[in-house]
Amino acid sequence: MFTCEYCKRSFRREATLAAHACEKKRRWLSRDERKVQLGFRAFQTFYKLATGATKEKSIRDFCESQYYGDFVKFGKYVEDNKIDPADKYVEFLIRESVKLSDWYSDRVLEMWIKRYLKSETVERGVERSILHMQDWADTNSAMWSDYFNAVSGNRFVHMVQTGKISPWVIYTCDSAQAIIDRLTDEQISRIAEFIDPEYWTHKTRHDRASVGWAEDIWKEAGL
Ligand SMILES: [Zn+2]
Repeated sequence: MFTCEYCKRSFRREATLAAHACEKKRRWLSRDERKVQLGFRAFQTFYKLATGATKEKSIRDFCESQYYGDFVKFGKYVEDNKIDPADKYVEFLIRESVKLSDWYSDRVLEMWIKRYLKSETVERGVERSILHMQDWADTNSAMWSDYFNAVSGNRFVHMVQTGKISPWVIYTCDSAQAIIDRLTDEQISRIAEFIDPEYWTHKTRHDRASVGWAEDIWKEAGL
């Protein structure tokens, strides 16, 4: 007899076992997929923070968990929405006691983005934004430094709403003003809560060291 090591079912022929597929085997064989890895990392953080467990959960624990499906769905959501940094988002979901079925809700993600943008350091915000500007440049055969002059209004609005462009960029880079000037009133209103002018005017007026750091970056890039 040949026994499946995952579900313990037995087969008379080895070939039947090889062709056999069960949920546990499928989970184990797909453990290296990105969405599974992202879900697994969130699962580990969840157990550490929400239950105070000291022993780290293994990938095998994950494959056997009744919450596997939800966490992989979450991993897929993180991947599709390029949520960055994903670990900070998971910490937020746990801290705010968001129920698991809402972890991949656009409404919750948007709430987090608005908050996270305000808590991020200038270094991280600028670095992350430049990476996304570079992505844009790659798909449009342009230079990332052309971003503000060449990006479309709708694309820019979407990138701000999804947290890809930090307000640190918008409020420290003179060239960023070029795109703001090109937006319609309707587009401005769609990003207003993300770039919160009142908050950021105050912040950039008081944190001159951070502003200076960002301005050096833009100067060096010729922006
Ligand atoms: Zn099996």
